[in-house]
Amino acid sequence: MTRRRDVILGMAALPVATLATAHLQLAWAQGAVLEGDVISTDDGDIVVHPVDHASLLLGFGSEIIYVDPVGGAALYEGLPAPTAILITHGHGDHFDIPTLEAIAGNAPILTSQEVFDKLPEGLKANASAIVNGDDTSLNGLPVRAIAAHNVTADRMQYHPVGTGNGYVLTLGDKQVYVAGDTEPTEEMLALKNIEIAFLPVNLPYTMTPDQAVEALNVFKPRIAYPYHYGDSDLSIIEKRIGPDTELRLRNWYPNA
Ligand code: ZN
Ligand code: ZN
Repeated sequence: MTRRRDVILGMAALPVATLATAHLQLAWAQGAVLEGDVISTDDGDIVVHPVDHASLLLGFGSEIIYVDPVGGAALYEGLPAPTAILITHGHGDHFDIPTLEAIAGNAPILTSQEVFDKLPEGLKANASAIVNGDDTSLNGLPVRAIAAHNVTADRMQYHPVGTGNGYVLTLGDKQVYVAGDTEPTEEMLALKNIEIAFLPVNLPYTMTPDQAVEALNVFKPRIAYPYHYGDSDLSIIEKRIGPDTELRLRNWYPNA
């Protein structure tokens, strides 16, 4: 909440030309409607909007949360501007400075220490870092960082322990888990009461479809979106998913 106040005060101090640009962007953003799957909470709807591979938008009331936005500004044209940005880790399919510089505006950025350290000063001013297991809030929304790393011996170099974050966001009375690049970790398997889970698939960096469905059948989110799957065979997940989870297969590669 303090952040919003800071943003408004900050804008008042901007030169007129910059303010005009900011104003135009705001008008453009207000006209844009976020389309996608709608999941209700006791405090309004969540809108799930896959963009590409690991990039997605979550709408919740006036909040538009961009997760791992990469791919250049053109990919986000016509979408509402971010009110907050989550970045899971520093790989190029999750973190791209030119994309952030083009779209971030004044949105607060929450990320890992590794990514934070790589941000240019302009973005760093609105950014903060969080470590695995810690809690914070983003525009007043509770967020917890969840361990995201490989667990298979010959894949540990891709996502070492303690480097990347998954995130659990609390939106109204629902929890949304964006796993980032990870295999099933103890922390993932111990999650409870997750309404919506985004789990990565594809080798060698993340999970096989078998690992993904086995994890889903342990922590049992109500809705699961496999993402980051490339050309992995998701029919394996479809065949093995348990009755507690609704599997939502969506096209995460509309630009391919
Ligand atoms: Zn990665
Ligand atoms: Zn990745």
